[in-house]
Amino acid sequence: MRRLLIAGNWKMNKLQSEAREFAAQFLPRVAAVEKVDIVICPPFTSLWVMNSALAGSRVMLGAQNMYWEEQGAFTGEVSALMLVDAGCQYVIIGHSERRQILGENNFLVHKKIARALETGLKPILCVGETLQERENNLAMQVVQEQLQHALAGLSLESGDVAVAYEPVWAIGTGINASCNDAQEMCLFIRKMLAELYDTELAARTRILYGGSVKADNIEKFLQQPDIDGALIGGASLEPASLAAMVGVGENAK
Ligand code: PEP
Repeated sequence: MRRLLIAGNWKMNKLQSEAREFAAQFLPRVAAVEKVDIVICPPFTSLWVMNSALAGSRVMLGAQNMYWEEQGAFTGEVSALMLVDAGCQYVIIGHSERRQILGENNFLVHKKIARALETGLKPILCVGETLQERENNLAMQVVQEQLQHALAGLSLESGDVAVAYEPVWAIGTGINASCNDAQEMCLFIRKMLAELYDTELAARTRILYGGSVKADNIEKFLQQPDIDGALIGGASLEPASLAAMVGVGENAK
């Protein structure tokens, strides 16, 4: 009942010409895909070019961040409505690189999620613990706090939000969470959604795993009952690699 979602987070990579070239090579490879929702999240500067490159395909566009105010004197920021205007349907919020490098906290993440929903964007809410937190048995507590703060007081419809469980120590390191640990945390997230909302919403919300997912390891994650897709950084930069992972999803479950 939950469609798989595979989202590529390009981070601060690719010029417009490179984005266009990616689309030219990627789209024919996924033209026949029916069972997987595919989202590509380029840097802001490539949103327009990707929006036109993806037109007519089923591949959707997402952004990597946004600001929570509607408009005004916020130099350097981009609003949710600007993202919609540029063709985005999704937005990644609370990525650990933003939390760790740019000081984004649960309070700011909450404001962004609220504005994204109000503007009609679907947030991909990133949660996950550091290595130290896992080693101190705090992983579930940290993820619980991140989720509770992010969604506090927000009414959700089924499918509004996807949650990406991304252990910080697995991002860009080549080290995966084990599929058992990833499944355990994704199930925990689903149970928390049931407590915060209801079982129906929890059952319909897509929960992704992210952290060094590649074509040769994605299958074991997608086979888990509570993992509904992947948020992919480094391995989403190559068209053949992202298409291969989408292909695994098309044939999974
Ligand atoms: C990410 O950026 O969300 C991510 C999971 O990165 P990587 O796949 O490179 O670990």
